[in-house]
Formats: sequence, structure tokens, C-alpha cells
Amino acid sequence: MQKILIIEDEPAILTGLKDDLSEIYQTWACACGKAGLELAQKERPDLILLDLLLPDIDGFDVCRELKEKGVDASIIMLTARDQLVDKLKGLELGADDYITKPFSLEELRARIKAVLRRRALAPEERYQDSVLVIDFKKYQASKNKKPLKLSALEFKLLRFLVSYKGKVVGRKQLLEQVWGYQVTPATRTVDAHILSLRKKLGKRYIATVHREGYRFQA
Ligand code: CA
Repeated sequence: MQKILIIEDEPAILTGLKDDLSEIYQTWACACGKAGLELAQKERPDLILLDLLLPDIDGFDVCRELKEKGVDASIIMLTARDQLVDKLKGLELGADDYITKPFSLEELRARIKAVLRRRALAPEERYQDSVLVIDFKKYQASKNKKPLKLSALEFKLLRFLVSYKGKVVGRKQLLEQVWGYQVTPATRTVDAHILSLRKKLGKRYIATVHREGYRFQA
């Protein structure tokens, strides 16, 4: 049974979600960020439903700390705010999707399914050659033995490209699979992140294929 942790401080929402989801998943629930971080480390959930506005630590910081502590759960952010800048920030910090309140349980269930499906499809846990070592599970990377700072989103993008090593991946496919939500940012967003990855890794790893997309080459 897959495990879901719900971190949400509104009692009615928390109870509603727990009741609904525990029919399908093994479910934990808590009402603040600190308890959520502890539970996440202890129970190692597959997915975390994370409210953005919490009484102690905000959802963005919870997200950041989860990655720092090496918790490899997929994350769906729940929020009352519907702003693109929040969505992008959440994704940058490693969230997998974003849902705005009020939402229907049906819609949430569909998103949960989609995120868990994508999670099952991500097979690459590590990439290594004589220069680069990348651990996608621990979010750690080094180049010539020196630590390399990549954002959580850059790790996800790179992981996807590496899993298609030697093959071309289109921008649209990257948006769907890495950014993964309905309100898609412009394909320029992909280009900007590829540019940043190239700067960090070295130019030779990611090739641009004219009009098609990008290709990771070892
Ligand atoms: Ca809240």
C-alpha cells in the first residue's frame, strides 16, 4: 500500500482528506510543519500533501527541509493562493504538483494518481562518469569531486534527461513530465533551466537538437 502524509492545519480539510484517502492509501496526518518533517523522516511516505500556509514553518520551507534531509517523497502543495509565482517557487523547491483550494476530492485523487504514476516511471537513481557524480535520490551532485549546487527542479529535469540518455526529449514532454501541471509556463522556462544546468555541468552534456528539444549525452 502506498503511503501518504497530509500536512494541513485546517481541521475540517485535514479530517476530510484523511477519511477519504485512507480508503486507498496508508495515511498519516498532522497539523504543523515541524511534526510533518518528523513524520516524513520516520514513515518515509511516497507522497506528501503539503499545505502552504502552516502555523509554524511555511510549506516552502518544509519542502526545502524535506529535500535537505533526503526525504524522497513526491509532494503536492495545497494552497489558497493561486499565483503562478507561488507555483513556480514550489516547483523550484521540488514540489511535483500544486492544487488550489477549494478543490474537489475527485480532482485531488486524480492528481495524486498522476504524481504516483510519474514517480514509478523515474528509474534513474544515479549517474556517474569520470567527471560527474549525481545522486538523484539524495539530491547530491559533484563535478570533479567538488560539490555542485543544483536546485530540486534542476535535479528532476536532469533525472528525466538522463533516463532518456542518447535520445531527444521535446520541450513539451519536459514541461509535462518535469513541471507536470496544467498551467504550463512558456517553453522558454525549459530553455532557461537547461541553460543553467549547462553552466553548472559543463556544455558537453546537454545537446540542443534544432526544433526538437534536448538530448543528454554521456
Ligand atoms: Ca493553512
